[in-house]
Amino acid sequence: MIARTLIELAGALKRREISSVELTRLYLDRIERHNPKLNAFITLDPERSLAQAKKADARIAAGEAGALTGIPLAQKDIFCARDWRTTCASRMLSNFVSPYDSTVVERFNAEGAVLLGKTNMDEFAMGSSNETSHFGAARNPWDTERVPGGSSGGSAVAVAASLAPAATATDTGGSIRQPSALCGLTGVKPTYGVVSRYGMIAFASSLDQGGPIARTAEDCALLLSAMAGFDERDSTSLDRPKEDYSRELSSEKGGKPLAGLRIGLPKEFFGEGCAQDVMDCVTEALAVYRSLGAETCEISLPNMRLSVPVYYVIAPAEASSNLSRFDGVRYGYRAPEYADIDDMYVKTRAQGFGDEVKRRILIGTYVLSHGYYDAYYLQAQRVRRLIANDFSEAFARCDLIAGPTSPTTAFRIGEKIADPVRMYLSDIYTIAVNLAGLPGLSHSCGFSAGLPVGLQLIGDYFSEARLLNVAHRFQKATDWHLSRPAEFGDV
Ligand code: GLN
Repeated sequence: MIARTLIELAGALKRREISSVELTRLYLDRIERHNPKLNAFITLDPERSLAQAKKADARIAAGEAGALTGIPLAQKDIFCARDWRTTCASRMLSNFVSPYDSTVVERFNAEGAVLLGKTNMDEFAMGSSNETSHFGAARNPWDTERVPGGSSGGSAVAVAASLAPAATATDTGGSIRQPSALCGLTGVKPTYGVVSRYGMIAFASSLDQGGPIARTAEDCALLLSAMAGFDERDSTSLDRPKEDYSRELSSEKGGKPLAGLRIGLPKEFFGEGCAQDVMDCVTEALAVYRSLGAETCEISLPNMRLSVPVYYVIAPAEASSNLSRFDGVRYGYRAPEYADIDDMYVKTRAQGFGDEVKRRILIGTYVLSHGYYDAYYLQAQRVRRLIANDFSEAFARCDLIAGPTSPTTAFRIGEKIADPVRMYLSDIYTIAVNLAGLPGLSHSCGFSAGLPVGLQLIGDYFSEARLLNVAHRFQKATDWHLSRPAEFGDV
């Protein structure tokens, strides 16, 4: 059962080969067995999950099942879920039980999906390795001495080790795509505004976007169809007709399913900065795309090199504002001892936040302060526009852009945590996509020394269905996405 994709599991539920309670129990048993080693989940509540599964079974029996009814899903611990502890992997929210559902959770509940547990992540989604979590690092199932990537590390580990058939994640600068790459999975970061941010704890509001991580593009399409859509409770949610992201997947176009597709290869992605083993896998994957009928051409994104510095002005600026709400009064943790109210704020924030979060608050406050605002924040916003313009010019020449997702395969736990700038460079290929608000997808495209390598596809606004279809064609022609780590391959 656990080797099956989400779509196959949905079929098994529909045909009554297995009940949702049995399926949920199967995953909960695996979590019990493997989570102590992998640390993929922060909070579990098996009784609550099984009660939801029981309801799903009743719905299936009544013939009222939807595509996801009875499917257990892991939720990144950044999505509020009613009566579930929702920590964002911070000490600050370590005792916070959400009184309401985020839109994403609400939509999955309405579909009858089962919430299997809340997954580990970098604290407030700040990180690329899951090592900034208050609850400790999650471990990559392909090599447990290595990081799974971040910030959605726990979600990627859960899916890669078959502790969940799929999971939700969020991506501010790469946090869906990079862990998908490092764990051999498929992950989609949608166009900004497609998935509601209501109830998704804010890091950098103009960049944050939720999306799915699963084994296949087909599964991601199904999940995204449930997650996406207008929500009046999020002022940046886009009011567009609801889409079926699976719509292009079944249309067979004969022998060359990608005939005529123009894939742009930015020279900035294929120069120095990328490890040779990653580049070799990406090059081979591009040959597969050509064999499916796609054409490739060189393009340029000249301002790409500015994306990491620009991001590390804008994201901390927004974070410093968003995180001001954690003051010991309204949410979560409060320092146990203090002299007066100012001392209470200071001690609460000093004790409640970890080092990386504090670093971002300090940088953000600095770049927004009088005298530096123009030099840093405004300047960064201007360059952000140039980066977005580079993409629009590129999409006049090609239908989508491809390159590596991450410059290396999974690195060792502890290798980069003491050097923030090296850690920040993990996202050199992903961050620009958030700055421009575009959709991006990562799918596995090979292995190097037993570790997965990811290929990134970037599309123009609202091209999710096309990206998913293109990745699906690749997955029909290859089987990288089916590989599972041997150590966690038991049933
Ligand atoms: N690694 C980036 C950061 O640390 C991106 C994180 C994310 O996408 N949430 O901010």
